[in-house]
Formats: sequence, structure tokens, C-alpha cells
Amino acid sequence: MLTQTREVATEAQVAARRAQTDSPAFFALLPLPYAVDALEPVISANTLRIHYGKHYKGYVDKLNKLVDRTGYADLTLEEVVTTTALEPEHSEIFNNAAQAWNHAFYWRSLSPEGGQPSAALRARIDSSFGDVQALKRELGTAALTQFGSGWAWLVLDGSKLRVVKTDNAQTPLTGQMKPLLTIDVWEHAYYLDFQNRRADYVSAVLDKLINWRFVSENLDAQ
Ligand code: MN
Repeated sequence: MLTQTREVATEAQVAARRAQTDSPAFFALLPLPYAVDALEPVISANTLRIHYGKHYKGYVDKLNKLVDRTGYADLTLEEVVTTTALEPEHSEIFNNAAQAWNHAFYWRSLSPEGGQPSAALRARIDSSFGDVQALKRELGTAALTQFGSGWAWLVLDGSKLRVVKTDNAQTPLTGQMKPLLTIDVWEHAYYLDFQNRRADYVSAVLDKLINWRFVSENLDAQ
């Protein structure tokens, strides 16, 4: 079982891994799914360049350093997140792995195309929230009432869609709920463009940048 091997990898495991890669980058940066200026004017190229190239890359780089020569490097990113969520002594690995996962999910939750939910998605939204506007209001409230750093999420909970929020690096991935969409409400996500006006960032994202197709894909992938 993983428990025996993940603390320290055996020499054979390290050798096998080295044979496959000559760098300790076990977890890759997910490419941005659009140009760095594609989300302007809501999210500037400057914000996205720093958010992606410094913050997100920083989490991935740190994670790769932390898991080097451990059995965690043989797991998927999702497995690292869900495993270390139960291991308080590995909170540093958890924080960096969860932030790597949350950010990769956030990039895909946004789209410069905006648009509207499909008819099938709209029916799911209507039955859980009343209508799309009510869902947006609930997501906005979660994003604004998240005290300090964190994330607002649309999730699938059983057969219902729900809005939840998480602190810092916490992620619904560790529970029974399936993440469908997220909004990063750490200050680094909006401070250069909106300063302290988180509400303006959140409402602009909700109005212009939600990738409804990504929500549908996540729902269909269950
Ligand atoms: Mn972020």
C-alpha cells in the first residue's frame, strides 16, 4: 500500500523515475488555455502573467521539490491532494499540491468567450437555484463572504448543484462533492486590477468570463 512507500522512495523507485525524466518536475504546469491578455479588460495581462508565472508556477515548483525522492512523486496530482489532506504532518505538500490543482481548474473555469449555459446545464441550474441569475448571486455571495484567501466553487453534491467556499488551499476535491467551477478570491487574483474591490472582480468574472462549457464537461464526466 502507498503508506509504506510514499515517505521515502526506495532507490529502485528513484532510479525508475530518473529513467523516465531527467528533471525533478514530476508535476507539470498546465498550459494556459488562452493568451495571457485574452481575459482583458476584466483580468489584465499583467495580473495573469504574474498569477500564472509566479504564483501558480511557484506552487508547482515547490511541490516538485517537496516530493522529490518520495513516493508522492509516483502519484497523480489528485492522489497527492486527497492523500495528504488526511496527513496533517504533510500540510506543506498538501497546500502546494492543492493550490497547483485549484489553479489548473481555475484557468479552465474562465473563458474569454463568456456565453451562456447550454439548455441541459440551464435545466440543472434552474432545478437547483431557480435560475442562472440566482446561481450567480449565490456564487458572488460565497466569493465575497470568504474571509481572507480562498475559493468559491460550484459543485455537484449528490444530484444537486451547490455553491461552496473554501479557505486558503482547501478544495472540494478532498470530499464527496465534485468540483464544476471555481473563482480564485486570493488577493493576488485581482489586486492589481481592482485593488480591494473584490466585489467588482467577482461580478465582472461572473458576467463575462464563466466557462459554462467547462461546467457542462465536468458534469458529463461524472
Ligand atoms: Mn491564485
